[in-house]
Amino acid sequence: MTLRFDDRVAIVTGAGGGLGRAYALDLASRGAKVVVNDLGGARDGSGSSLSAAQSVVDEIIAAGGEAMANGASVTDEAAVAKMVAFVKERWGRIDILINNAGILRDKTFVKMTHDDFRQVVDVHLMGSVICTKAVWEIMRQQAYGRVLMTTSSTGLYGNFGQANYGAAKMGLVGLMKTLSIEGAKYNIKVNTIAPLAATRMTEDLMPPELLSRMGPETVVPAAVFLVSDDAPSNACINAGGGGFERSYVTLTQGIHVAPEDMTAETIAARFEEISDRTGELVPDTGGAQGAVALSGAK
Ligand code: NAD
Repeated sequence: MTLRFDDRVAIVTGAGGGLGRAYALDLASRGAKVVVNDLGGARDGSGSSLSAAQSVVDEIIAAGGEAMANGASVTDEAAVAKMVAFVKERWGRIDILINNAGILRDKTFVKMTHDDFRQVVDVHLMGSVICTKAVWEIMRQQAYGRVLMTTSSTGLYGNFGQANYGAAKMGLVGLMKTLSIEGAKYNIKVNTIAPLAATRMTEDLMPPELLSRMGPETVVPAAVFLVSDDAPSNACINAGGGGFERSYVTLTQGIHVAPEDMTAETIAARFEEISDRTGELVPDTGGAQGAVALSGAK
């Protein structure tokens, strides 16, 4: 089985380097027409330049593929709308959106300004919202769409000094969950990748011997599968360095008590039972979780 993307049109945000570049090169080598979007700024989000995106486009074209460069910031609604309109006009459709663009403003929460927090949430979370909203109606009308969000181990599990990043990244999992429900009827599959790779984002965060085993190409297989024809929906795959795992938001069996026992003292006394992971569930929707809570069944 070979996964092909002939006649598919993909937008990859933040594709001027790192993971986005690797996704763009791989999709193009499999037949997709690729929009290489990148603001071309520094790791903290300052500055801009089209040269990073253009050099990836040049690589794709040199390898015989089709691509266009775009320098819109994912946070700029008008520029994103313009990019989408141009792609639709030139290539007729938009099948795949990989929301990959991102910045870092790492600091302990005590030192983190509101601006540090807002900028990071703005690029990761609102940037993904803006780009997804810009293609959503096109995908609905085509009855075909594949959207990939990018979360992080920080969002899923937490990491020191990344409160802003973690909040934004877990927000993307929540966004995926509801969009995968809303998109189902229109064959729009929405998934999330939690990468771990050597890029400029991680170059000073991990030891060199680890980085050497974790090139962006070790994340590509999961990302490409998650935007393919056969993609699942509502899946979060952690990928990097040869490891591929799936993350879930789980629910314990918990306890179900009579009104007279609904006290803080009951929770204190039975916290271990509430936390017991035996028979853990993964509800499909928030409604399904509510049904478990109200069912009283254990
Ligand atoms: P990177 O810095 O190489 O790539 C991010 C790209 O996004 C850059 O090219 C940057 O110019 C671009 N960008 C930033 N702001 C933008 C904006 N407003 N509009 C358009 N483009 C913008 O880092 P990377 O590691 O390749 O990161 C890619 C994604 O993967 C990010 O969302 C990051 O948070 C996520 N991630 C990476 C790792 C890792 O181990 N590298 C781990 C977890 C999550």
